This record gives sequence, C-alpha cells and structure tokens, in this order.
Amino acid sequence: MQAVTTIAAVRERVQAWRREGHRVAFVPTMGNLHPGHVSLIETARRYGDRFIASIFVNPMQFGPNEDFAHYPRTPQQDEGMLAKAGCDLMFMPDVTEIYPHGSERATRVEVPGISRILEGEFRPGHFEGVSTVVAKLFHIVEPQIAVFGEKDFQQLTVIRRMVAELCMPVEIIGAPTVRDADGLAMSSRNQYLTSAERALAPVIYATLKQAAGRIEAGDADFASIERAGCEALAAAGLKPDYFAVRQARDLAGPAAGERDLVILTAARMSKARLIDNTRARRP
Ligand code: AMP
Repeated sequence: MQAVTTIAAVRERVQAWRREGHRVAFVPTMGNLHPGHVSLIETARRYGDRFIASIFVNPMQFGPNEDFAHYPRTPQQDEGMLAKAGCDLMFMPDVTEIYPHGSERATRVEVPGISRILEGEFRPGHFEGVSTVVAKLFHIVEPQIAVFGEKDFQQLTVIRRMVAELCMPVEIIGAPTVRDADGLAMSSRNQYLTSAERALAPVIYATLKQAAGRIEAGDADFASIERAGCEALAAAGLKPDYFAVRQARDLAGPAAGERDLVILTAARMSKARLIDNTRARRP
C-alpha cells in the first residue's frame, strides 16, 4: 500500500488505474480505525478492484465545543490496518491541503432539510461539514464506488441525497454496523467511556432492539415507543438527546403505509456522545 498526503499524488495514481480499466472504490474515514472501518474495505471488495481510504479529521464537521482537538489520532496503527485489509492507497492530507483558505471560509455544500433534523439539531453545522468534505474528497478521488457505514445512518442518507442532487457519478454503498459481542456499535468515541460507562453502554442497542421488536409486532404507537426508549436510556443513567422512529428512505416521520423504518438514537454519558440505529420492518 502506498501512503500519500497530496491531492496531486492521489489524482496521479487514480488516473493510472482508470486508464488500466480498474474500478476504484473509496472509503472515507477520520482514522483511529477499528474493525468497523475494516469491514467497509471488505464491502468495497465486492464492488471494485482498487481501494482507497482517506484519513482526515475534518474540522468543519465539529462544533466549537466538540472533540476536534482531542479526537483520537493513530496514523501508524491505521496505516498497518489498511495495508493488512488490502487497501491500495491511503490518503492522509493535512488540513491546509483540504482547506487552503481555512475551513471557515471554504466553499460549502449543504443538503437542506435532512441535515437539520436529529443529529443536525444537536450538532448545528455538522452535516454541512460532512457533505462539504465528502464532496471535496469525491472530486479529488473520483471513485466509481464509495462505501459508508450504516452506523451513521443519517450521514449515509445525507450523502445519498447530495450525490443524487449534484449528479455525482459515484455509487454509494451502505455497509452494516459492526458491533462488539455485547451489542455496542464500534466507535472511536467508545474510548471516551469509563469502564463503568462501557459496562452500561450496551443498553443503547438493547433499547433499539426492544423498540424494533414492538414495531415488528405491529405496534404503531411511535410516540409511545420513542418515549419508552428515552425512559429506558435515562433509567440506565444515560442522557438521550433523541430516540426517534423514522422512515428509512428519507428520515421523515412514518407515513401510514410505510413499512421500512429505522430507529435512531443519540445518548450522552459523561464524556462520550454515542449514536446508534436499527432497522425495523412493519408487518
Ligand atoms: P468515522 O471514521 O467515524 O468518520 O467513520 C468512517 C466510516 O466508517 C463511516 O462511513 C462510518 O459510518 C463507518 N463506521 C464507523 N463505525 C462503524 C461500525 N461500527 N460499523 C460499520 N461502519 C462504521
């Protein structure tokens, strides 16, 4: 695997691959890789034959009081994991390569509506940062395929909408969430948990599954399901920001005949804010 830090080096490599007729699959990340990220490369294998991962902690998607400065950075370990996973090219730019005029003054991409609900309500500007950096990375890499985790379900929905509306010639693939044995979704932010909090954290997925069970059994009282979810998380000592039942295709409130739903939640413990979701199909 080759590791590069400049846009020019990425373009040179990718253009050579394209001339040779390869299908290029791209996995954007913020690094501090875990098996969830590695699974995205494995998914990418089913769609492409040359693989690029980017590692970039994107300042634009962090709020002023968020963990940008402290976000875990483990570049050497990441490089080893990507090489082992069969990645061909690792792109690890610094902030000035991506934002030569500073991230605050950069041209922005905004996907309206969907970026302002759920996570967007609690993290103003977050999805604008995500859609902007992903649009830039797509222009740099020009992949035919890009893989994102369903762990960040709203992010995946925002990216799909952006790609459709800006007519970007890239196919977006969603990959299933990788979890620890007790159900906790893997996340770089799990490191912020104390051992007591780590022991409690599986309640998030357990509560989501309970809600999915009610929906799959025919319960359509979504307000009651949402309330019960918040109460269960609070009873376990977490502080839920939201626990919401939505349509999977657009994250709107479930319409009467809509069967494919998703339950999304974000909950805070002392230092960590964790998000997770699960799908539920109405009978
Ligand atoms: P991040 O480094 O947190 O920005 O995540 C980079 C990509 O990895 C995103 O598409 C995430 O949705 C995905 N991802 C993060 N955690 C997991 C997980 N536990 N399972 C599957 N994909 C994940």
